[in-house]
Amino acid sequence: MSAAEQKDKENPAQFGAFDAYSGANRRPQKYYDAIKAKFAEERDLRLKLRPEGTAQFNSDLDGGLSRFGEDSYNREIEEREPINDTVEVLFIGGGFSALLTTSQLREVGVERIRIVERGADVGGTWYWNRYPGAACDVVSYDYLPLLDEMDYVPRDHYAKAPEIFEHCQSIAKFYDLYDLAVFQTTVIKTEWHEDEQLWHVETDRGDHMKAKFVICANGPMSKPKLAKIAGIESFKGHSFHTGRWDYDYCGDQLQNLKDKKVAIIGTGATAVQAVPKLAEHAKELYVFQRTPSSIDIRNDWPTDPNWARKLEPGWQAKRRQRTIDGPVLTEAQLAKRAQLSAEEKIQRQENSNIDHMMWIHQRIEDIVDDEATAEALKPWYMFMCKRPCFHEDYLPAFNQPNVQLVDTHGQGISEVTESGPMFDGKVYDVDLIIYATGFEVQKTGIYNQIVGQNQQEINAYYSDGIRTLFGIHSNGYPNLFIMAGYQASFQFNITDVLTVQGGHIAASIDFARRNNCTSIDVTPEIEDWWVQQVIAHRGKTDRNKNCTPGYYNFEGEDNRRQDGTYNGGFKRYVELIEEAKTKMDEIFILHKEKEA
Ligand SMILES: Cc1cc2nc3c(=O)[nH]c(=O)nc-3n(C[C@H](O)[C@H](O)[C@H](O)COP(=O)(O)OP(=O)(O)OC[C@H]3O[C@@H](n4cnc5c(N)ncnc54)[C@H](O)[C@@H]3O)c2cc1C
Repeated sequence: MSAAEQKDKENPAQFGAFDAYSGANRRPQKYYDAIKAKFAEERDLRLKLRPEGTAQFNSDLDGGLSRFGEDSYNREIEEREPINDTVEVLFIGGGFSALLTTSQLREVGVERIRIVERGADVGGTWYWNRYPGAACDVVSYDYLPLLDEMDYVPRDHYAKAPEIFEHCQSIAKFYDLYDLAVFQTTVIKTEWHEDEQLWHVETDRGDHMKAKFVICANGPMSKPKLAKIAGIESFKGHSFHTGRWDYDYCGDQLQNLKDKKVAIIGTGATAVQAVPKLAEHAKELYVFQRTPSSIDIRNDWPTDPNWARKLEPGWQAKRRQRTIDGPVLTEAQLAKRAQLSAEEKIQRQENSNIDHMMWIHQRIEDIVDDEATAEALKPWYMFMCKRPCFHEDYLPAFNQPNVQLVDTHGQGISEVTESGPMFDGKVYDVDLIIYATGFEVQKTGIYNQIVGQNQQEINAYYSDGIRTLFGIHSNGYPNLFIMAGYQASFQFNITDVLTVQGGHIAASIDFARRNNCTSIDVTPEIEDWWVQQVIAHRGKTDRNKNCTPGYYNFEGEDNRRQDGTYNGGFKRYVELIEEAKTKMDEIFILHKEKEA
C-alpha cells in the first residue's frame, strides 16, 4: 500500500462509520420505529432474565474459584524481603496509566517512582491478556502511548498484544522504572497518615512502604469476573478465564487442542478475537452466546514503511490534538444542522444508527451460511450500546463444521455440570471451558482498601455517589490521584484520556513541589462543582434506559447520575483541565511545610 493510500485510510470512522445526521427519511419512519420496538423488546427480555444487574457477576474469586484469578504466565513467586522504604510517587498498577504518567513526571524532575504490580511485569491489560488473537481495537498509532517519545511506529494498523506488551516493557526500561518496581505484589491497604503527611502502603507480601504521592492506576478492567453460574467448581475438565490464558494446557500454538472439545462462554470483545483461533485448532468448539456483539469491518494492514519513514517528530501529538479538536464541519453542514430541531436531530441520529446496525445484520447474512446461525448472530440494539467489535474472521468461523453457536437468547447457560455447560436441558460434554466473561469495571481500589483523612474508606466516602474533581481527586484523600475511573471523560481510545490525566497529575505534583506543599487536596466546593457538571451532562443520554444490558450501562441497573463518565465532551474536559493548571492555588487546599 502506498503512503498516500495509508494516509487516506488512516482515519476510518471506525466506530460510527455512519454520518450521524444523514440518515433521515431514507426509509419511512415506521421502518425505523419498528426496529426500535424490536430493540426495546430484546432489551426488556434481558432485563427480565437478569434483574440482579451487576450482581450477576462475581469478581471476588476466592475459595475454589481463586485459581481463575491466579497468574498463569508466571506461576513461581520470586522470594524477596519485605520493603519498608519511602518513595516520592507510588503507582498501584503497572499498565499504561502508570507508564505514560511516569514520562510526564520525569519531565518535571520526579525521581523516586515505584510501581507496585500484581503481575510479574509491567503492561497491565497487555500483561494479563495474552489470549490467542488479542489485539487492540483502536488504531495503534493512536492507542499506543509515547510513540513520539520512544521514536516508535507500531508494526500494524491494529497492534497485536505481544507488540503492545513489548512496548510497555520498553517504556519501563526507557524511564528506569524497573529499578524500584515491585512485582507479584498486591496492594491491600493504602492509608493516609496526616501527622507524617504520607501514604502508608501495605501489600500481600508483608511490605509497609511509604509514599508522598499515590496514583491509583489499578485499571478500568483488570479484575476478572465470572458469571454466577451454578456448578463452575464441579466441572471435571479443565477451565480458565481468558485474562489468564493457560498455554501449558493449550500449547503455545494451541496445538494441544486438536483432540479437544472446547466451550467458550461469552461473546464479547475478547471472545470475538479468540474464537477464530480456537476454531482453527480445536476439534470441536461450542460458542455460548447470551447477546451477540456487533461485528464491524476491521481493515487491518501492516504499517507502510515509506509512510512511517516520512513521519515527522511530534506526529502522534498532532494526531491526538486532531482527536481533541474533533471533526471539522463545513459551513453548509453547520447551517443544515442549525435548521434541525432537537427532536429531529435525535431522530436522524437514531435512524443513521439503525441503518448502520442493519448493515451489520446484512454483513452477517452475507457471510454466515447457516440461516438460523446468522439470525442468532444479529445484534438487536443501537450501535455503541455494547462495546463494538471489529473482526474479519469471527463470522466466517461459524461456517466451519467444527464450530457450533449455542444461542441462549439472553438466558445464558443454566449451570455447569461435571461434564460441561448445560443449556435448555442439554449438557455439552467438553474437555475445556474458557470463560470470556470480562472484568469488573472501573472501580477505584480493587484488592485494596483506601483510607483517607478521618479514617474514611474511599467507597464509604462514595456511598451517596462518586465524588471527584475530573475523576482524579477526591476531597479527604490528599496527594492521591485516580486514573481511568468514573467522572472522567469517555473516549473509545482510553489512552487519550489517560494522557490528559497523566499531564494533570504531573502538573499537580509539580505545583506541590514548587510551593513546598507537603500535601494538596481538592476543596469540597470544587469537587461539588464537578459532581454537578457530571450530573448535568449525564442527562444528555438515556442509554441506561434504552440500551440492552451490558457493562457500558451497568447491566441496565438504575444508577445515580453522578456514578458514570463525564459526558460534556473530551474537548471541554481537556480545556477545563488546562484551565485548572492556572488555578491550582484555588482548587487545592495547600498544606505547607512548617517554617523552621
Ligand atoms: C482485552 C482488552 C482489550 C482492550 N483493548 C482496548 C483498546 O483497543 N482500546 C482501548 O482504548 N482500551 C482497551 N482496553 C482497555 C484497557 O484496559 C486500557 O486501554 C488500558 O490498558 C488501561 O491501562 P491502565 O494502566 O489504566 O490499566 P491496566 O492496564 O488494567 O493496568 C492496571 C494494573 O493494575 C494492577 N493492579 C490492580 N489492582 C492492584 C493492586 N491492588 N495492587 C497491585 N496491582 C494492582 C493490575 O494487575 C493491572 O496490571 C482493553 C482492555 C482489555 C481487557
